[in-house]
Amino acid sequence: MSYKRILRSIAGGPGPKPLAGQVPNDAGGFVYEIGMWDKLDRFLILGSENGTYYVGPSTLTVRNLGTIDACLQADGRRTVGRIANISASGRAPKNEPALIALARAAAADDVTVRRAALDALPKVARTGTHLLHFADYVESMRGWGRSLRRSVGDWFLNQPVDRLALQAVKYRQRDGWSLRDLLRLAHPEPADPAAKAVIDWIAHPDDPQALSRARAQVPILEGFARIRETAQAEDVADAIVRYSLPREVVPTELLNDRSVWDALLVDMPMTAMIRNLAKMSAVGLLTPGSKAAGHVAGRLVDGEALTKARIHPIALLLALRTYARGRGVLGHQTWTPVPGIVDALDAGFEAAFGRVEGSGRRLLVAVDVSGSMIGCRAAGSPVLSAMEAAAAMAVQFVRTEPQVHVVSFDTTARPESLSRRQRLDDAVARFRKYGGGGTDVAQPILHALKQRIEVDAFVLLTDHETWAGRVHAQQALDDYRYGVNPKARIVCLATSATHGQVIDPADPLAFGAAGFDAAVPELTVDFLRS
Ligand code: CA
Repeated sequence: MSYKRILRSIAGGPGPKPLAGQVPNDAGGFVYEIGMWDKLDRFLILGSENGTYYVGPSTLTVRNLGTIDACLQADGRRTVGRIANISASGRAPKNEPALIALARAAAADDVTVRRAALDALPKVARTGTHLLHFADYVESMRGWGRSLRRSVGDWFLNQPVDRLALQAVKYRQRDGWSLRDLLRLAHPEPADPAAKAVIDWIAHPDDPQALSRARAQVPILEGFARIRETAQAEDVADAIVRYSLPREVVPTELLNDRSVWDALLVDMPMTAMIRNLAKMSAVGLLTPGSKAAGHVAGRLVDGEALTKARIHPIALLLALRTYARGRGVLGHQTWTPVPGIVDALDAGFEAAFGRVEGSGRRLLVAVDVSGSMIGCRAAGSPVLSAMEAAAAMAVQFVRTEPQVHVVSFDTTARPESLSRRQRLDDAVARFRKYGGGGTDVAQPILHALKQRIEVDAFVLLTDHETWAGRVHAQQALDDYRYGVNPKARIVCLATSATHGQVIDPADPLAFGAAGFDAAVPELTVDFLRS
């Protein structure tokens, strides 16, 4: 923290003096502290790997580990249940916070909590990558005791054989832990001969006999072995379709082959499809009017399929932003974006929130565009700012609610005209013109008061790092209720995993949640209709 900020926080800052019950935030201002369960939710949804504008990733992570420990102390089973639930529902943009929290629970002092955490392992670590990351995290928190080894062994034993083989094919080489390392620790002993053959091959990947035993038992490994035996694109494509093989089996020299990608697309999982849109366009598979492009566009707007594959709306925003540009972030790959796919990504963003009817209430949605929102990445994303992700959430309200005022604010508030027909990435891009001013979260409410804008509820999208202005947001809200609508509600959506909220959590007409939760529209509608 800079001395300027330290002195400001000691002096109480240039902004309003603290109200009863308020605590300092990291910006030199004052907020209300949320309860530990809400903090846990914020961490599980928003993570801490990017830190905030004010504190680094280590500090933010240490604080959140403290929250997890406090929750584990208070009610270990509830904590584990929450971790498993948020992870399995796909509400978080990333699964890493859940894996970290589960590792923490697996290292708890209380044996029943440790057991509950290990029981939840398959729910939270659903893929080979998840399991490898969990192994990394848990090793930094506890030793490889018998129960942990057994749980990892059970993870292997409880996977359907085809799925286990697929994981092994996809994640053969990674930094850090490999599935082979985990097998050596856990020594699972399957009774099923197919599972035994797969596990034996994972443990001895260079043993030709292990592979020949495994390929005889499991079709996907037969396909994998065949691809190793050929260099012909046609044979590779045949094997891919016949054995439903993933991209990871394709030899590097064939990764620009259109027929190979055509074959991969047949059974391509949703996540891989979204990740490879640019590639499939660059190799000429996805072109305007092509059958492949129609197939892809159809899947991208299938809400049920998106939910089932746990595709987070933010992931679609990122895909849209990258894909529509026609060139990669590093600049060397270029492609011609297919308009139908761009439109489908745009519609998919909305569909990925699940089927949500609007609340029908009159809303004022306020997007914090201050410097801290621009200078901080959103929910573990390396490229998206918290401001851009917040703007995308505002777009979702515009698309689903009949009467929405959108305002942006830093130390002043101004109306933004967002139309529901505007493309998501264009709407978000409009917010990029802001240069990063100070922060006064009371401003959007004062704006509504001054302009006599009648709303049923405010929706704040902010990091709650407010410090400027003359009055607190809570005071502005009280004034608004006194002067305009005594029943005005407020929804506080947080964009980083900090401890503060500008509105008192005890306010009976207030509701707080993590801002990039895929369930935000549903939770908001439930609250506004209650
Ligand atoms: Ca700020």
